[in-house]
This record gives sequence, structure tokens and C-alpha cells, in this order.
Amino acid sequence: MRTDVPPLLHAYARPAADRSSYVDIVAGDGAEVVDAAGRRYVDALGSLWYCNVGHGRAEIADAVAEQMRTLEVFHTFDRFTNPAADAVAERLAGLAPMPDTRVFLTSGGSESVETAVKLARIAQHWAGHPERTVVVSRRPSYHGVTYAALTATGLAANQQGFGPLLPDVVQVPYDDLDALDHLGPEYEGRIAAVIAEPVVGAGGVYPPPEGYFAGLRERCDRWGAFLIVDEVICGFGRLGQWWGAQHFGVRPDLVTFAKGVTSGYLPLGGVLVGAAVREALEADEAAVFRHGYTYGGHPTVAAAALANLDLLEKEDLIARAPAIGERLGAGLGSLVDGTDVVGHRGTQGIWAIELAEGLSANAVRDALLGHGVIARPIGTSALAYCPPLVVTDEQMDRCVEGTRRAIADVRAGRSG
Ligand code: PLP
Repeated sequence: MRTDVPPLLHAYARPAADRSSYVDIVAGDGAEVVDAAGRRYVDALGSLWYCNVGHGRAEIADAVAEQMRTLEVFHTFDRFTNPAADAVAERLAGLAPMPDTRVFLTSGGSESVETAVKLARIAQHWAGHPERTVVVSRRPSYHGVTYAALTATGLAANQQGFGPLLPDVVQVPYDDLDALDHLGPEYEGRIAAVIAEPVVGAGGVYPPPEGYFAGLRERCDRWGAFLIVDEVICGFGRLGQWWGAQHFGVRPDLVTFAKGVTSGYLPLGGVLVGAAVREALEADEAAVFRHGYTYGGHPTVAAAALANLDLLEKEDLIARAPAIGERLGAGLGSLVDGTDVVGHRGTQGIWAIELAEGLSANAVRDALLGHGVIARPIGTSALAYCPPLVVTDEQMDRCVEGTRRAIADVRAGRSG
């Protein structure tokens, strides 16, 4: 065995030849992180689209430490509960974009999508519609990596080589309501749920066309299908309201969340369960939703979420998203020159630039590190930006200027 190859297997990467090819992040504060050599970077993607309150928040560390000393963990299966899990559920139900909501807790986004798909199918089953098993998702989209979440994900490259995916999932273009009306006779009367991100995130940063979510809602109502809004990225302020669903004025039946609920400080996800699904779950007194994750309702994780929600509220961070749109969105737009940057897209706190053919997003990302900015390639030709909501104007300007210089470096063969 080669001893210079680090044993940690990295997600979405080939094992590197040696440790020196990794960027070793050791600390962070606000919208910046620091590597082992002391170099500072603007964390332009909020780590992985989640660090909404920024790094280094003592309030969250203190809440976690206190909970650890009181009750570090106990499960919430069947008859057991704990005050932190109850409090976070209550808080989230109060914030939910639909009335009379219950909250199912998981440990991340994929588990939440998995849970929502199972909830939709079982609720249909218990409501007397066992034939409604089909889940409609969109292309492109990103919903995670477990089999239901992966099957719903509209990125063909992610699905290759993993064997048979989940049956009864059908995809339509992300912006095409008409495609939903032409799914084919084999799907008629069989739709359990439609799943959609408010703004497609890791699938490429694509906001929906005008009126799209009203169209989805109308079709779900007509078909008796549940609308699952995947808020894993857009929830907790990314679009200037608590939920993307509120930004687009739509009432979901199920909401999946993760990431921003703790700003990533500890792994938490979950599903907001609206009245229609809940009624189906409760209709049969003997029926049990046989589903749950060991760490769902983990009190220490819940304490991190509560402290994070306090910060979002007290500092009115959700109101920051439009300002990010005005500064960062406009700044990235100023890079569009038709030669190196051929487009930019996004809204509020989430943006991407599209690089010209021949410019590799990986190469620009690597060059950008040299200018003190961490952005994330999405696909081969786009770079995404989704900074902590505490990002300053000066840091956003550094993201834009750094990107301009990184592209020039790659063009000049100086880097990447
Ligand atoms: N859904 C959306 C919209 C996401 O962006 C992601 C992750 O980026 C997921 C689900 C999966 O979340 P996780 O990586 O926590 O499993």
C-alpha cells in the first residue's frame, strides 16, 4: 500500500496522487475560510450551498456544547422524544409554507428526499390509490445520491453504472409544463407525486419560468398527486424568504430540507408534512409508517438547528438575499462578454456563470483558488456561487474580480 496516498475517499473525485493536491481547510469565520498554509478564501458556495449564517458562530457551538452535556443523544423512535427535537419540530412547523404541518427529521438531504418519496407513495396507498406510484421529476435537477433521490435526480452522468434505478420515476424538462401534460397514457391516473427544486441548484442553477409553480400545483391538484418541493438548497433564506415555495407563491404538500436548517454545523434534514399527506397517514389507526433513521431527532443536532434559526431571525439574514442578488448577481453579469463568459443565471442568493466552450470550469475553479475564492464547478462549463448570507459587499466584489482574473489566467495558460 502506498503510504503517501491519503486514505480518505473524497466524494465526486478520483483519488488524488498525494496529499498536496488537496486544499486543507482548517478554520473559518463569516464568509471566509482559512487553509493550513494560512491562506484566506471567500467561501463563495457556502461550503456546499449551506453555510447560511457563516462560519465560526460561537452561539451554535455553545448551544451544541450545552446540549451535549445535558443529553447528547437519544432516539425518537416510537414512544421516545426529547425537548430539543420537539422544539425544532415546533419551530419548523411554525415557519412552514403550508398550514397544519408535521415534521419528520432525518440526517441530510438524500434521506429527506427518500422519506418524501416513500411518504407520497404510502399516503396514496393508504388513501385508497395504490396505483399511484409514479414520481415525476425534472431534468436537470439534483435530489441526492440514495436510490430514490438518485433516480429523481435529472443528471444522467450521476446515474450511470449503478444498475437498475427506482421503477416508476419519469422525468420532464425543468421548464416545460406542457411536457407534464404529455407523459403518455401509461402514466394516466398513476402519478403519486411531482418533485421540484424552487431553483435548480447543483443541476446547474436554473430558476423556473414565470408561473411555473402555479402550473405544477394546478396539475398536482387535478391528478390527486402530491407536490414535493425540494428546499434543501433554497430553504432558510436563499431566495429572500424562509422557503423558495414562498418566493414562488406555491403551497407544497411535502417539503424536503437539510443544509441551511443548521447552516451545516451538524447534519440535519427532514420533511415538512402537510395536511393532505398527514390525513392519509392518520386515516387508518393501525397503519404505521415503517421508516426512520437512527439519528432522526438527535437532540444535539436539533440544538444546533435552534441556535442557527435564532441567528437567521435575530440578524434578519433572510433579508440579505436580494442584496446578494444585486451585488453578486450584477457583478457576475458584468463578466458576460460573449467570449469567455457566455451567460449568467440565478436569482437572489444563488448564481452561476456559463463559461465559453473550451474553458474548463475545473481549470477556472483551480485558478480562482489562487485569487482567494472557492466557487464550485457544476457540469463542465459552469461555476456556481451561493455564499453565506453574511457575505460582505467587499467579499462579493472579490468573488467577481477573482473570477475575472482566474479566467484570464486560464486563457493565458498561467494556471489550471
Ligand atoms: N436535494 C437537493 C436540492 C440538494 O441540493 C441536495 C444536495 O446538494 C440533496 C437533495 C441531497 O442532500 P445530501 O447531500 O445532504 O444528501
